[in-house]
Amino acid sequence: MTRSISILGATGSVGEQTLDLIRRNREDWRVEALTANGRVSELASLAREFDAKVAVVADEARLPELREALSGTQIEVAAGRDALCEAAARPVDLTLAAIVGCAGLAPTMAAIAQGRTVALANKEALVSAGDVLMRAVNESGATLLPTDSEHNAIFQCLAGNELANVARITLTASGGPFRTWTQEQLHAATPAQAVAHPNWDMGAKISVDSATMMNKGLEYIEAHHLFPVGLERLRIIVHPQSVIHSMVEYRDRSTLAQLGPSDMRVPIASCLAWPDRMDTPMAPLDLAAIGELSFFAPDETRFPATRLAREAIETGGAAPAVLNAANEVAVAAFLAGQIGFTRIPVMVEQALSRYSLPAPKCLDDVLSVDAEARANVQELLEHA
Ligand code: NAD
Ligand code: MG
Repeated sequence: MTRSISILGATGSVGEQTLDLIRRNREDWRVEALTANGRVSELASLAREFDAKVAVVADEARLPELREALSGTQIEVAAGRDALCEAAARPVDLTLAAIVGCAGLAPTMAAIAQGRTVALANKEALVSAGDVLMRAVNESGATLLPTDSEHNAIFQCLAGNELANVARITLTASGGPFRTWTQEQLHAATPAQAVAHPNWDMGAKISVDSATMMNKGLEYIEAHHLFPVGLERLRIIVHPQSVIHSMVEYRDRSTLAQLGPSDMRVPIASCLAWPDRMDTPMAPLDLAAIGELSFFAPDETRFPATRLAREAIETGGAAPAVLNAANEVAVAAFLAGQIGFTRIPVMVEQALSRYSLPAPKCLDDVLSVDAEARANVQELLEHA
């Protein structure tokens, strides 16, 4: 049976890997909407290849270019933030939310409001909107499938079990490219070094987050919302081989883990086929070749980001949205060569200590906290 899908963030790393799986199973899917930020020619060629119903570019100034690139086709074109949300609200069997950053929140919420199935890769949306997003899921009756590899692993390990029987959820972290670096080396880390992840091929922002360990901090908050077992039952462990993608320990001390190649197409395939399974092009896991799996406690002196994330979710209210916004601005500044690597968590901590805003109650509240925190951090940057 053919199913319909929209991909928000089709030109990104997750978007492309999703389309790779769809390309291999073309007869199973009908593509409704594909969206991108600014890579118009890439978006247009994907829209043509997959015969999308609509292609949307976030940057309004690029609309004429998109229209030109898709002239002579039946594919509708649109641009701007509202158009992204309208496209995300078109009825489909599955929406893959794979925009990076809080920019993906409103379109993701528009998809959730349809009450269908949403595969969520866009962790920043859940970190910023937390309870607001989860409430929308409950109210619309949508099914949320975690696409982030750790959360997908936990989701799989929880299948057929009650959350009440969970003793502990362990998020594994690769430790990133700087796992063994000294503080001095971290000070001098460059954007090129930060985006060169040892195990995963990902977009620039999440690669920097992996290097600072903020990715794991965001994932800790993400896990808290997706699997509400209480913060005291959530922990992080560094596992450099990225073979175990996360684990669930039950009260009888039985631990279930999900293992697989470090390729996002595995968790994406789990979402595409859920509750069934599908083939992926990956080689089987060769444990004898991997040889050893190792585990380390996180070092929050060199990598304070997981502490900041834990403190933000313990504080609650607007703090996670401030944490996320500050991190997005700081990461962009690092990638642009404006600040050093170790300034990223420092700026996040400064932003968190600057104010305590009331808990956001709706999407607009989250977006205004996000905007205010961004402006604030931008100001910190300019006066640095
Ligand atoms: P990416 O940078 O490769 O792609 C991001 C996509 O979002 C692109 O299609 C881009 O055009 C679009 N986009 C960017 N800014 C936008 C804006 N302002 N408005 C509308 N669209 C915008 O990112 P990615 O690595 O694919 O990550 C996407 C999301 O998935 C992130 O939230 C990331 O944390 C999460 N994730 C990624 C991976 C991975 O392996 N790449 C793994 C787990 C989770
Ligand atoms: Mg992850």
